[in-house]
Amino acid sequence: MSDAVRNVIIIGSGPAGYTAGLYNARAMLDPLMFAGYMSGGQLMLTSDIENFPGYPEGIAGPEMMMQLREQAERFGLEVQDKNVERIDASTRPFKVWVEGEEFQSHTLIICTGAEAIWLGAEGEDEQKGRGISTCATCDGAFFRDQEIMVIGGGDSAMEEATFLTRFASKVTVVHRRDTFRASKVMYDRAAAHPKIEIKTFRQVTKWLSDESGLTGALLEDPRDGSTEELAVTGAFIAIGHKPITAFLENQIETDEEGYIVPKGFSMTSVPGIFAAGDVVDTRYRQAITAAGMGCAAAIDAERWLEENLH
Ligand code: NAP
Repeated sequence: MSDAVRNVIIIGSGPAGYTAGLYNARAMLDPLMFAGYMSGGQLMLTSDIENFPGYPEGIAGPEMMMQLREQAERFGLEVQDKNVERIDASTRPFKVWVEGEEFQSHTLIICTGAEAIWLGAEGEDEQKGRGISTCATCDGAFFRDQEIMVIGGGDSAMEEATFLTRFASKVTVVHRRDTFRASKVMYDRAAAHPKIEIKTFRQVTKWLSDESGLTGALLEDPRDGSTEELAVTGAFIAIGHKPITAFLENQIETDEEGYIVPKGFSMTSVPGIFAAGDVVDTRYRQAITAAGMGCAAAIDAERWLEENLH
């Protein structure tokens, strides 16, 4: 067991976590972050970030995460690239287990984010972050005047397909059945768009590529197993996101999809435990909003410490 009780332990290392770390470090709270084995979060999968204010030329996702980390570390954030296995939110101070070692902290800030659900079709790993993306807002502009596809039948797929018509010459929405989870208004908007074609009863079974990158997908009709090829140079998988909250083991209130439910500003259902970024954000899911939420959680944790421990 690590002896010292920390003021703040930050779990997760996307823009929310690093911003919380920066603020708490500058407030002399000596924060400790468990960044995970693959620190940096979803932006490590993004090539160029063009919509984060302050970077007129854009910046590569991994480079931005390195800079956020450096900035927070300069003010004293301690970062360990380890995964948190579980926490105990029922004791004070809270307990956090990391690779079998126990840590204690008066407050926790959970910034573990959400991960896009990937299809897992053959050839997907090689094209991730190249021709295949899970974020139209991040990567749509790289597919100007190209024919692309969006997979999914929910609001995300309709929203992404409609957004992508700004760039692409044609967007084919591929959905595995003919019933859509999407709201009628969003489905109708996509279906009525002249650049969008909707193909139902199609499941991607294999990604096709050559040395230039993605060239298309093999689609299978789940009803009879018949197949066809669809030629595209870009594909956006929009079959949902999964917040990373399983390690909380239901000690903090989450909604039916696993998102942490905020209980007044950034506080969770457990006083002294705060959440920021995609793990609590069912709506915006942007780097800049996550960073803002990290700032808010850091300020809330600092005030909570002042009010409850001093
Ligand atoms: P969703 O509503 O759960 O839809 C996921 C879609 O992906 C479904 O059509 C599902 O097909 C399909 N899918 C899931 N796994 C698949 C697989 N392995 N292969 C092929 N297709 C697969 O998810 P979402 O669209 O991300 O929306 C999540 C929540 O956010 C919803 O509550 C939504 O309303 C909300 N949202 C709102 C807005 C907005 O209002 N602006 C925008 C985006 C999202 P099946 O139907 O066959 O299961």
